[in-house]
Amino acid sequence: MWRNIRVLILLVVLLWAATHTWVERNSSTRWKEPLWVGVFPINADGSPTAQHYIDSLSDRAFLDIEDFTAREAHRYGRQLEQPVHVLLYPQLRQAPPQLERNTRLLGTAWWSFKLRWFAWRTLDFGGRPPPRIRLLVLYHDPSALQELPDSHGMQKGLLGVVHAFALPSMAETNSIVIAHEMLHTLGATDKYDQANGLPLFPLGFAEPDRKPLYPQEKAEIMAGRRPLSPQDAQMPAALDEVVIGPATAAEIRWTHR
Ligand SMILES: [Zn+2]
Repeated sequence: MWRNIRVLILLVVLLWAATHTWVERNSSTRWKEPLWVGVFPINADGSPTAQHYIDSLSDRAFLDIEDFTAREAHRYGRQLEQPVHVLLYPQLRQAPPQLERNTRLLGTAWWSFKLRWFAWRTLDFGGRPPPRIRLLVLYHDPSALQELPDSHGMQKGLLGVVHAFALPSMAETNSIVIAHEMLHTLGATDKYDQANGLPLFPLGFAEPDRKPLYPQEKAEIMAGRRPLSPQDAQMPAALDEVVIGPATAAEIRWTHR
């Protein structure tokens, strides 16, 4: 009995979410006016290093994401001068719910629901208009951990959770991760092999027609890395080494398939 009720409630929530997502997707990918993207920094480990880094941030820290999106949109004939406007919002004092690795479908749906609830309760816009896309960026002291937890960008709720290193020399690679998750919220899908992390051919290649094919000079944003050989790929240094490929452009409705 209780189990049935729980399943029923979950189905209602999922149905509501699906409708809501459809409406949000349509309104977020019209590309008629700049899309407001809010970065909400979080001190992930409570360290002075992360705090110092967060204190040094301003809107300027994300100009490369705006420039990247504008440059790529224009390549696809989009007239809008500034497709996204990335702004810094007040720091969050609380960390969002974590998604454990290898969580199954229902667990992920529940996490996504909790995350939206968290965002609704916790986000402070500091007097600025609320952004359409909300990216919670958790900054970590690089000396305290080797590898960052996975980042997630969700179309549901236009919300992303991004893990980044609190290091000025990592600012440009952080922007690549932020741009990747931002595009997930707009409906873009990953274009790398989940098993080995290598870009998928041809969708995850910046220049699939290049001869010779390897090494590729640039990376496709949703593949994340630049293929060097069939077995090897490298993280680009900055967004000027990254492109939005035709499949991603179609997913975010810059073009029509
Ligand atoms: Zn991804």
